[in-house]
Amino acid sequence: MSTRLRIAIQKSGRLSEKSTQLLADCGIRYDINQRTLLASAEGLPIDILLLRDDDIPQYVEDQVAHLGVVGENVAAEMNKKVNLVKRLGFSKCRMSLAIPKEKEYTGTSFFEGKSIATSYPNILSQYLQQKGVNSDIHQISGSVEIAPNIGLAEGIFDIVSTGGTLISNGLKEVEIVLRSEAVLIANQNLTASQQAIVDELLFRIEAVMGSKGKKYVLLNAPAHQLEAIKDLLPGVKSPTVMPLAQENWVAIHAVMNETEFWEIIQPLKLLGAEDILVMPIEKIIP
Ligand code: ATP
Ligand code: ZN
Repeated sequence: MSTRLRIAIQKSGRLSEKSTQLLADCGIRYDINQRTLLASAEGLPIDILLLRDDDIPQYVEDQVAHLGVVGENVAAEMNKKVNLVKRLGFSKCRMSLAIPKEKEYTGTSFFEGKSIATSYPNILSQYLQQKGVNSDIHQISGSVEIAPNIGLAEGIFDIVSTGGTLISNGLKEVEIVLRSEAVLIANQNLTASQQAIVDELLFRIEAVMGSKGKKYVLLNAPAHQLEAIKDLLPGVKSPTVMPLAQENWVAIHAVMNETEFWEIIQPLKLLGAEDILVMPIEKIIP
């Protein structure tokens, strides 16, 4: 029987849409069976398993899944025997300590002898131990941010993305403990043929991630301005230059970051560039 790899992704939540999109961008197509939550993909010998994110590290350690996409925060909290294969650049957040905004913060010793509510007791206790602080950790499973208001704890340790939830609960962020993004984790005992599929998937993921924010720009310009235009093009190794049917005009093709493009568009026009086309790039294979 030929080798197939099973990859676990979040069933529904903040990771699921981007995880699904990443697999699609890598050419992995599938229809989920809503009863078994398992799908056989085409495009690569891979099966998809939909799980709660908290279960993914354990399933990957046990080889029920060979790969998983999960928040680095969850991987750190579960602390299972899995390999972190790749940071995926989406679902970024941080894990922070926060206290009521009217309290004066004096450094981590503030938390000495105080109670802290969190859903992430392992990451927190490791951090406090490292800082030599003894606190009373209250593990709760959700709505951590209301704990100080209802008198359950004097501080919280939780996920922060914009900070809006903290502010609306009268809290202020005082320490960033961990920065997190979605990561690809793998079982530690893959066979060579399983590893070969992981390597192919990684190759595709890198091609997809490498094209993020990049645009393919085409423009026409008077040939005598070619050198000045080349000087303007940021980070481009060597643009493609082709003669146009119209004499003394050239077409220039280059790949650049979208943000850089906006900075040079006016100078390009001043140099006589015309008919500028900006096109999306799906993949870049270096
Ligand atoms: P599940 O039902 O699968 O257990 P969940 O409610 O535990 O889902 P989500 O809220 O979907 O989890 O968050 C999944 C992950 O998304 C988090 O563990 C974290 O890595 C990341 N994330 C990014 N930004 C945020 C945010 N603002 N709030 C919560 N999680 C975030
Ligand atoms: Zn969860």
